[in-house]
Amino acid sequence: MELKRFHPVSEAVVPVTDCPRPRFPVIDFHTHCGKMLLGENYASVYDTEEYARELLKYGVVKAVNLDGLYGRDLDEMNQKLAGREETFLNFMWVDLEDFEEPDFSSKVRGQILECHKKGCCGIKMWKDLTLYRKDSKGQPVRTDDPRLDAVYDTAAELGIPVLMHIGDPAAFFKPKDEKNERYEELDANPDWEFSDESRFPRFETLLEMQENTVRSHPDTIFVIAHVGSYAENLGWVGEQLSKYPNLYVDIAARLAELGRVPYSARRFFTAFQDRILFGTDSTPVTLGAHPIYYRCLETEDEYFPYEPEGEIPGQGRWAIYGLFLEDEVLKKVYYKNACRLLHLDEETFEEEFYG
Ligand SMILES: [Zn+2]
Repeated sequence: MELKRFHPVSEAVVPVTDCPRPRFPVIDFHTHCGKMLLGENYASVYDTEEYARELLKYGVVKAVNLDGLYGRDLDEMNQKLAGREETFLNFMWVDLEDFEEPDFSSKVRGQILECHKKGCCGIKMWKDLTLYRKDSKGQPVRTDDPRLDAVYDTAAELGIPVLMHIGDPAAFFKPKDEKNERYEELDANPDWEFSDESRFPRFETLLEMQENTVRSHPDTIFVIAHVGSYAENLGWVGEQLSKYPNLYVDIAARLAELGRVPYSARRFFTAFQDRILFGTDSTPVTLGAHPIYYRCLETEDEYFPYEPEGEIPGQGRWAIYGLFLEDEVLKKVYYKNACRLLHLDEETFEEEFYG
């Protein structure tokens, strides 16, 4: 039998808790409603009202859309989400095309101010910057490049967070061989392999530039996506959170990592409950993961799939465990921390969604 056909079913008889809805209202801090994941014709792919109603069924009352982009793309995004401005909060992108030009600082500042005026409440920076982009000398671009300071300084000036996706799973930077725990995923997605040192920065280099960036801009709030780029090493992420009060992390698309180390994950959530944000990385056409997040965060269930039942787990062949987080921790992760970063009044939020 070929490995890809092997799909064993666990015989462990353990409690199964159904969690269609979260215990408290949720702000999903990491979603994609635009062309980055859905393509140029994204507007015709889903109906905004219907999407908002679907989210509400899962207890998600607000969602941060990381695909705000800028310029005409932002106008189109705003048009698409019109009438639902209270539900969908856009994060803008910055145009980095001319970042080596002498007037980049003033240009990018102007762009951020303009997008902020059009409702954007944060800045998104993606791994295209760190993994693919090269400067005019052929060198990879670093997030701690002083030429990008204007981006971080303007965010601090406006009091809006910068959400960064810098790295990718550690195994993506290792050779795709029999020891690689994400072998099947890399086999199915060859573009995600970054083991070639001549083409891609090392994982350690990315972590180093990430830390430099956070450290050298203490007045800027950074949300480093996917558990601070290193969900596999909660000890390291915890150290970073302890060192830098301006650092936050989201948990998007990292249930498989958090749920396979339930003891350390529970300690991590408890210790850093004020700096962790709920997020799923979902889109209007890939809903359905929310109940698994709730099951992992809220229950004591053991050894269950991190993806919808019946599928071969996409991020590696293991199962996860519940973290049974305390109510106060859950509230912070679900909405309180997000309210703070998005400047939403917590009491008004609670009155509206959790009365
Ligand atoms: Zn994402």
